[in-house]
Amino acid sequence: MTVPGGASDASGALRLLLIGPPGAGKGTQAARLSEAYGIPAISTGDIFRENVKNGTELGVQAKGYMDAGQYVPDSLTNDLVRDRLSQPDVADGFLLDGYPRTLQQVEELDGILGVDGFSLDAVVVLTADTDEVVTRLLKRSAEQGRSDDTEEVIRKRLDVYEEQTAPLVAVYDERGLVVNVDGLGDIDVVTGRIIAALAAR
Ligand code: AMP
Repeated sequence: MTVPGGASDASGALRLLLIGPPGAGKGTQAARLSEAYGIPAISTGDIFRENVKNGTELGVQAKGYMDAGQYVPDSLTNDLVRDRLSQPDVADGFLLDGYPRTLQQVEELDGILGVDGFSLDAVVVLTADTDEVVTRLLKRSAEQGRSDDTEEVIRKRLDVYEEQTAPLVAVYDERGLVVNVDGLGDIDVVTGRIIAALAAR
């Protein structure tokens, strides 16, 4: 499916990234955009959590980093994404939620896509103010009991985001790919904003 007014390539495939601080609502919006555009949403955080739950080797390696609010090493993360992007369901595009998060991951993704001559169509940056995301994450912690949602770990994750991931926005901005969307407000309203912003490109 193509975005009305569209950002997709000649084959109609749509390749999107969703970047934003923890608690900006990436997961929620990714699920909705996946449905709206008919493309799989791929969340590295979800894949890591699934592996932790199932006690896989990857899960055992990732858990300590996740619980401390740190990033899982690039080598493990990149292998996981390379493998996932080799699956047939990404032929018509994909939405990556929470990857890349480091400059090294940006390079890796460029390499993965470049081999097939693919490129990204847009990078949606979901913005949200720090106090608001801390409140949201504490609420999610009470509801879902995620082990990386204690206040101390939340603050650590926000610091790590600022240090390692926020700089990626400038990199993609230079490529003319960034679409900034205010992540605050009603979930439907935010989804509408993203779809409208992509259509306007
Ligand atoms: P998320 O659900 O996207 O907030 O991810 C939860 C946790 O999984 C993060 O705090 C990291 O420990 C790990 N993680 C997810 N995606 C990545 C990534 N691209 N690079 C490194 N670690 C990641």
